[in-house]
Amino acid sequence: MSLRVRLTFLYTTLLGVVLLLFSLLIFGLVSIILINQIDSTLRQSAENLIPLLRVNEENQFDPRSLTSVELNENLIIQLFNADNQLQVARPYGWVEPLDPQSLAARTPGYRSSTSDGVPVRVLTIPLKTVRGPAGVLQLGISLSLVIALQNDLVTIVIITSLGAMLITAVATWLITARALRPLSTVTRVATQITRADDLSRRIPITEPVDEEFRNLINAFNQTLERLESLFNFQRRFIADVSHELRTPLTVIKGNAGLMRKLGEADQEALESIESEVDRLTRLVGDLLLLAQAEQGELPLDPQKMSLDTLLVEVQHQLATLAGDKVRISLEHLEQIEMTGDRDRLKQVILNLMANAVQYSTPGGEVVLALHLINQQARLTIRDNGPGIPAEDLPHIFERFYRGEKSRTRSKQSGFGLGLSIAYWIVRAHGGHIEVSSQEGKGSTFTVWLPLKPVNNKENSLE
Ligand code: ADP
Repeated sequence: MSLRVRLTFLYTTLLGVVLLLFSLLIFGLVSIILINQIDSTLRQSAENLIPLLRVNEENQFDPRSLTSVELNENLIIQLFNADNQLQVARPYGWVEPLDPQSLAARTPGYRSSTSDGVPVRVLTIPLKTVRGPAGVLQLGISLSLVIALQNDLVTIVIITSLGAMLITAVATWLITARALRPLSTVTRVATQITRADDLSRRIPITEPVDEEFRNLINAFNQTLERLESLFNFQRRFIADVSHELRTPLTVIKGNAGLMRKLGEADQEALESIESEVDRLTRLVGDLLLLAQAEQGELPLDPQKMSLDTLLVEVQHQLATLAGDKVRISLEHLEQIEMTGDRDRLKQVILNLMANAVQYSTPGGEVVLALHLINQQARLTIRDNGPGIPAEDLPHIFERFYRGEKSRTRSKQSGFGLGLSIAYWIVRAHGGHIEVSSQEGKGSTFTVWLPLKPVNNKENSLE
């Protein structure tokens, strides 16, 4: 059953139930009021009549005592003697007892009964004189009018209730159609998106819609945006990996072909194959590490370590790579003992310093500094190389991102994964990396690391 049908049914039924309860209440109240009015008329009539009654020596009523009385035209009077024999009846023909049950039992009070086929309300009053029981007076008023009124009331209530329910059903049907229209638009566009496989489409908010629908559409559009960016990211990633795999595989195939032609192992070709295999192994290792890091599952082996010693160690290691081309100097070195994964942190410092050396022009300088600030280690690696263009800066920590100038692949060039890896390792230690750079002037990378690692499992880098 559609939501629209369900809502219409629900509202109409709800209104029906409320009207039914309300009608029962009104019906009950009206009936009680009318009966009370009749009872009070009966009581008053009795009070007027009883003083007029006369009895003789045998304690028998004198029928004449009531003949001259002016009576209410709706009132029925029956007077019985002590043996329950009818002595007076007004109107005269009404001989069947108004309430035989109360008469037989001589129970005083009001009761509804049927006499001569007519529904009546009866007041029974046993009468006594000083000489003992004298008889019973029964006064009655026909309930036909009340019943007719009750029937009219029921008819009116049924007709108006059905009318109200019909109006509610039509109104709900129309209102829900209008209220649910945005939902069908969402469904239509979502279906079109699925059919056309086009994640770039968004659901437009063209007409004024309720806040709930606006939120739904916004949430849906955000989901689409996220899906699109994940999809693009995945596509780019596959393209990048394929690109990185193709070149070493081509080199390996070429060298293998060469040796087959030569019919013997060629030293140079073997070395080239070996170096490409090393490169491929590095690529696979880096990708695995990134995949683990992005899932928050980067295996870390945190131990007490000296960050300053590690920095000096990497500096010496890189001095060989830098040779005479770039000077590496230590501007400030504070002794810092911290808890961290030494090998991973070494990888971070190596990546950053290697970049600084690699991108520096001959005669350049790389300056290192290690400070302790607010229980955090601050490591800065500054170079006076070419700098990073402002348009590249927001992307350099993305996987496979390489600046325009670094795209021409050389044997030494990286895969564009070094900064991503550094980012994730630092993040896994609860720290972060900042970069500032000016084209033509150089770049500064600053790594902040807490002295004790904080468990940081969040991951998102798009
Ligand atoms: P790559 O393997 O290309 O070095 P990275 O992830 O280490 O990959 O660096 C990403 C890009 O950031 C590089 O291609 C380069 O354009 C830019 N970059 C990083 N460090 C520096 C630096 N010190 N000076 C200039 N550009 C840099």
